[in-house]
Amino acid sequence: VALPIKDKDLFRQQCYINGQWVDADSGKTIDVTNPATSEVLGTIPNMGAAETRRAIEAANAAWGAWRKKTAKERSVVLRKWFNLMMENQDDLATIMTAEQGKPLAEAKGEVSYAASFIEWFAEEGKRIYGDVIPAHQGDKRIVVTKEPIGVVAAITPWNFPAAMITRKAGPALAAGCPIVLKPATQTPYSALALAVLAERAGLPAGLFSVVTGSASAIGGEMTGNPIVRKLTFTGSTEIGKLLMQQSAATVKKVSMELGGNAPFIVFDDADLDAAVEGAIMSKFRNTGQTCVCANRIYVQDSVYEAFAEKLKAAVGKMKVGDGLKGETQQGPLIDMKAVAKVEEHIADATGKGAKVAAGGKRHALGGSFFEPTILTGVTSDMAVAREETFGPVAPLFRFKTEEEVIKLANDTEFGLAAYFYSRDLGRVWRVAEQVEYGIVGINTGIISTEVAPFGGVKESGIGREGSKYGIEDFLEVKYMCMGGI
Ligand code: ADP
Repeated sequence: VALPIKDKDLFRQQCYINGQWVDADSGKTIDVTNPATSEVLGTIPNMGAAETRRAIEAANAAWGAWRKKTAKERSVVLRKWFNLMMENQDDLATIMTAEQGKPLAEAKGEVSYAASFIEWFAEEGKRIYGDVIPAHQGDKRIVVTKEPIGVVAAITPWNFPAAMITRKAGPALAAGCPIVLKPATQTPYSALALAVLAERAGLPAGLFSVVTGSASAIGGEMTGNPIVRKLTFTGSTEIGKLLMQQSAATVKKVSMELGGNAPFIVFDDADLDAAVEGAIMSKFRNTGQTCVCANRIYVQDSVYEAFAEKLKAAVGKMKVGDGLKGETQQGPLIDMKAVAKVEEHIADATGKGAKVAAGGKRHALGGSFFEPTILTGVTSDMAVAREETFGPVAPLFRFKTEEEVIKLANDTEFGLAAYFYSRDLGRVWRVAEQVEYGIVGINTGIISTEVAPFGGVKESGIGREGSKYGIEDFLEVKYMCMGGI
């Protein structure tokens, strides 16, 4: 399938290792399909441990010269990469929509969000300050410096095919570290297009390599190889735990952005129209396939019906369709496995007494398209209360008091994002302080930005991405004690 892009060179079906475009050693490939049409877009190399090892060794070889550069010199290259991403925003968005399914407008938004991490960290790399500490003895001086941790391995998911990469590559490269990336097998072309632009920006060979293929073989080499000093992962909690175990053997530093089960609370003093707008954005963005999507919507008793009605009206206006064809607000789900999970959650809820207030079934468009769905009368014993649905299902729970809903919100092993709507200042502080989450959206459904720290507590992860906190994960502290003064 020929994609409608201006610069055909951005669409690559080979991997980028040590500055070379290469096939798998075995010559084997994997098909990549468009979830909106089920058409095969092309193939990617089916690589494994050997190719990954070469990428890691090349990264290590490139590291010395890169870390010796000044922050400003590194920043100049990163800035070029950012500019190229923005100049090619339309093509990058088209590639993304074709492999991922999100509406083109959302894909364009993601490209600029993705680019923002490169721009931001290009600047932040200049502010990696150390410390001088008053010494404990008169003839000593204590200096603390921060150094790049070394070779970084990154594994990223399909829901944000560009931004999950640049959030890791931006701070790693700015801090002076090379990075080897395994993108999701469903969405490799966005990653490979980023590599084309990195090459054009003048990033030296070996500093950003992209390896596609067997997740377990590539992941095994990334976690087992002692050259890799840091693993940064975004994906499911299940795979995150496995990678942490694998990384333990060589005591790698890890960053984990894992699953969520976001509560979205609407109090009786909320601006209901704003809450509906926030719920739509938080719940249905990317067809419900983000780790910060509202998963459990708690509505206070006295406004429950009014909120449900308004949400239903808003959902009724959403247009479902192929993201590349005209105005759509909701694309397909990533695959049929995702559809099956959404159906299971709906069946489980309705089997236990919930009602379908909107949608509830596969969309007439077929394939993995699904109707935006609202469930009412949802209770804590249903699967949607415990597991991330990762689809367009808004389950509405009813609650009575602030204390009760805080308890419900925290009753999960996850702790990524929480949202609530209230106009009572006292309540805003009380609730914000008591929810056990890394990110709290107050009177807003959209919290992602490169300037703020994104990350979770409990089983939602370790570390933060974006902001001044996000670069720390790629640095080691060195303490120098000078005596005999
Ligand atoms: P999702 O449900 O988003 O697909 P996964 O955690 O399965 O979540 O996938 C996230 C990333 O982890 C993808 O790049 C995937 O290929 C990769 N992955 C899956 N299994 C493994 C594994 N055993 N080792 C390393 N990476 C893996």
